Amino acid sequence: MMMYFMRLMLVVFILAGLCTAALADPETFEVNDEKSIYAFTQGMTPILTVPNGATLIIKTKDCFANQLQKPDDKIDTVDWNQINPATGPIFIETAEPGDVLEIKIESVEVGKQGVMMVDKTFGVLKDRFDGMYFRIMPIEDGKIIFDEKLSIPIRPMIGVIGVAPKSGSFSTGTPHSHGGNMDTNLIGAGVTLYLPVSEKGAMLAVGDIHAIQGEGEICGTGVETPAVVTLKVNVRKDMKLNNPVLDDGANIMVIASAQTLDEAAVIATSDMADILAAKIPLDMENINYLMSALGNLHISQVVDPLMTVRFSMGKDILSIYGFPGF
Ligand code: CA
Ligand code: ZN
Repeated sequence: MMMYFMRLMLVVFILAGLCTAALADPETFEVNDEKSIYAFTQGMTPILTVPNGATLIIKTKDCFANQLQKPDDKIDTVDWNQINPATGPIFIETAEPGDVLEIKIESVEVGKQGVMMVDKTFGVLKDRFDGMYFRIMPIEDGKIIFDEKLSIPIRPMIGVIGVAPKSGSFSTGTPHSHGGNMDTNLIGAGVTLYLPVSEKGAMLAVGDIHAIQGEGEICGTGVETPAVVTLKVNVRKDMKLNNPVLDDGANIMVIASAQTLDEAAVIATSDMADILAAKIPLDMENINYLMSALGNLHISQVVDPLMTVRFSMGKDILSIYGFPGF
């Protein structure tokens, strides 16, 4: 009887093993868009806990929480408390304060249409308007139908991606050193974003996808769309960062946000100088020459309460000095 039982258990174990193998990758997690945050703070309650190394397939609402769907929807009925929902937060096991969360963005699939909005209180050209206006733009075959003359090939990007901040509370409408509403149009498929971790589990949240957005985001919106973002997280214990860093394959960039572009430029530039001082065998004088000769400052956005810039250095140059990237 005992022998029979043990044989039976063996069969059960083998079957269980086969079943597990037949299921989807256990390291891949789908996250629907039902639970969002509107601020990155310390002590948020996670909607999901995933192991380090997990792949996440995250559904996101557009920045209007999908409240504007048709041209005749009423903009005055929009609930502005639901602006910029970020799906999450997601607890990533082993992430501790002082670590860095490496996020490889694999794909960003946008919805069937996008929304743009202008308002008299919002955007660089706000003085030209006496109210709030929006337009729906269909997205067909990878192109935004702007009007009968112009179809724009999409370049999907993530507006809001962040983790719990060191302290305080940051609306998902603003960027800061935790990431957040960086509206940096390079944050799309194929790049790796590094965010400084300030809380156990990091607490990642993602939202505000744009089918396309220019540098600056001058009217305050990109082509806003719901989306499905696939990304892979990896906790880096060997890195320390003050601000988000982006690697687009060719360049390493420090992304910094501050009250003014001038202040943001100083933060991004001095963070890059510190990274290079730690990674390449040049003194600060020569790092300065290198950054001034070959580095580039770019404006990411000028419309979210804080301004965002990035300082970019070519990885080919840094490789010469033994730093091919993180
Ligand atoms: Ca945004
Ligand atoms: Zn947006």
